[in-house]
Amino acid sequence: MADVDVDLFVIGGGSGGVRAARIAAGYGAKVMIAEEYRVGGTCVIRGCVPKKLLVYASHVHAEIADAAGFGWSIPQATFDWPTLITNKDKEIARLEGVYVKNLEISGVSIAKARAVFEDPHTLRLSTGETVQAKTILVATGAAPNHGAIIPGIEHVISSNEVFDLPACPRRILIQGGGYIAVEFAGIFAGLGSDVTLVYRGDNILRGFDEDVRRHLRNEMEKAGISIQTGCTVTKVERHGDTFTSHLSNGSSLASDQVMFAIGRHPNVANLGLETAGVAINPSNGGVAVDTHSRTSAPHIYAIGDVTHRVNLTPVAIREGHAFADTVFGQRPTVVDHTNIPTAVFSQPEVGTVGLTEAQARAQYPRIDVYKAEFRPMKATLSGRHTRILMKLIVDGASDRVLGCHIVGPEAGELIQVIGVAVKMKATKADFDATLAVHPTAAEELVTMRVPFASYGPSPAA
Ligand SMILES: Cc1cc2nc3c(=O)[nH]c(=O)nc-3n(C[C@H](O)[C@H](O)[C@H](O)COP(=O)(O)OP(=O)(O)OC[C@H]3O[C@@H](n4cnc5c(N)ncnc54)[C@H](O)[C@@H]3O)c2cc1C
Repeated sequence: MADVDVDLFVIGGGSGGVRAARIAAGYGAKVMIAEEYRVGGTCVIRGCVPKKLLVYASHVHAEIADAAGFGWSIPQATFDWPTLITNKDKEIARLEGVYVKNLEISGVSIAKARAVFEDPHTLRLSTGETVQAKTILVATGAAPNHGAIIPGIEHVISSNEVFDLPACPRRILIQGGGYIAVEFAGIFAGLGSDVTLVYRGDNILRGFDEDVRRHLRNEMEKAGISIQTGCTVTKVERHGDTFTSHLSNGSSLASDQVMFAIGRHPNVANLGLETAGVAINPSNGGVAVDTHSRTSAPHIYAIGDVTHRVNLTPVAIREGHAFADTVFGQRPTVVDHTNIPTAVFSQPEVGTVGLTEAQARAQYPRIDVYKAEFRPMKATLSGRHTRILMKLIVDGASDRVLGCHIVGPEAGELIQVIGVAVKMKATKADFDATLAVHPTAAEELVTMRVPFASYGPSPAA
């Protein structure tokens, strides 16, 4: 191709796009990245990072409540939402600056503009300029999806707005049963709000291990969160500063905020993808890609949430890196999407890697399930009624640990480490041979000796 302005044009300055741009530039490519909102994308600006800061803020309440059992008397504590949001905003702005600086240091030029395809090799920016690129990466992420239009939908907020509310709602209704909905239920409950979670399915966290779903729901209800399953919000009415939500089961609920977290759709609309010859995957609505993240147009690639494969920040980053290695580093790299450790920053946290019990039973002739439910030591003096769940799923034939599921404090930290063992194909015998760290909750993972249940023919049979 003659007359190209850049070797690589990246549409979207989120987790995946930024990584791809930097690595490609490191290989000597001339790279431009366009970001229409704020560099850092969903994770940094209105996703993982601000959410985790709010999760930390919401833990303080429980710590203060527990303090009495350890001999502390703490005067009546008060919480100020504007202080939290101001401090969160400062941290997010700092991180955004770090992202911009890292791009600049890598030699990537940044266009603070929306970019759309004008033809397969030309991008038109919202500033009016056009840029010709040899290779293009679509990394436009995803956005909240409110589902069917119901009366009063204009009163409903999403995870985009929740980070900037002027006040902490005294009562909030959250519709959704996925990780974002349960995380915000925990955040607001911890900050003192009355929380109702409404979900159309039979239980929260669809797709997670059944014991995890049951255990977490039980813990959330013990913490005072009302969980209404098997129904949906059909109408929202506004009365001044408050709202009435009507549910499909005939009941109605008053609240100060109504938030929907019922799914996210890939940002594929109005990008000019048709003009560029980029096909959509009919099964998930994302950009269709092969194992190297290449789209139906051979010079255009797509990574991260816009492909709707596994919508997590580390996955977008890994896919962006692999793309740059493949196309600009002459090191063809395929991302392995199996055994991805993940956390739900609910209260208590969930950490999970590998197969659920149901998946393992469907895929393996014989499995052994090891399970422990127990009260954490920290809760003994405080009197808190909370329990930890730890579960290992083991292949009866090879003894390999196929899955690990934890609900309890720091489950996200634990599963990162267990994820290494599962990725290395550790066996249950490897877990058993590892000495316990005492006294910890995690020692349970290496001391569960007798299966709680076994399915399929016994090895001797
Ligand atoms: C509330 C919430 C909490 C989350 N928590 C976690 C978590 O704890 N752990 C985790 O792993 N993941 C979490 N995620 C998911 C994570 O944020 C995403 O998987 C990740 O950000 C995907 O990265 P990406 O690069 O694909 O897209 P994004 O980070 O969404 O970046 C896409 C960027 O493209 C820009 N853009 C879109 N169209 C254009 C255009 N035409 N021109 C220019 N720019 C454009 C957007 O403004 C955006 O900045 C969370 C998400 C949400 C919403």
